[in-house]
Amino acid sequence: MSGLDDREWMLAARCRGFETSVFFPQKESGLGPVAGAERDAKKICRTCPVIIECRDHALANDESHGIWGGMNYSERRAVARAKKLGRLLPT
Ligand code: SF4
Repeated sequence: MSGLDDREWMLAARCRGFETSVFFPQKESGLGPVAGAERDAKKICRTCPVIIECRDHALANDESHGIWGGMNYSERRAVARAKKLGRLLPT
């Protein structure tokens, strides 16, 4: 979606209208519920037209909570490390 300004991509987000608890599960809920919420969120992300923009935003801003761009924080950190080491091409 080139041509959109900084946050305009959010208008096309598939997650609009969903409960934030799906994308930002609380650790206090326990590992099972958190994993379940992450799976549900990632399913929604896979159909999102702005998944790349969302992921890039989260990586650029080191978003440390929640599912962004179909990834949790650990997964985003792994991508950021790989990019830093030149093991991934920039998107
Ligand atoms: S990729 Fe996922 S978290 Fe990001 S805007 Fe789309 S649905 Fe929402």
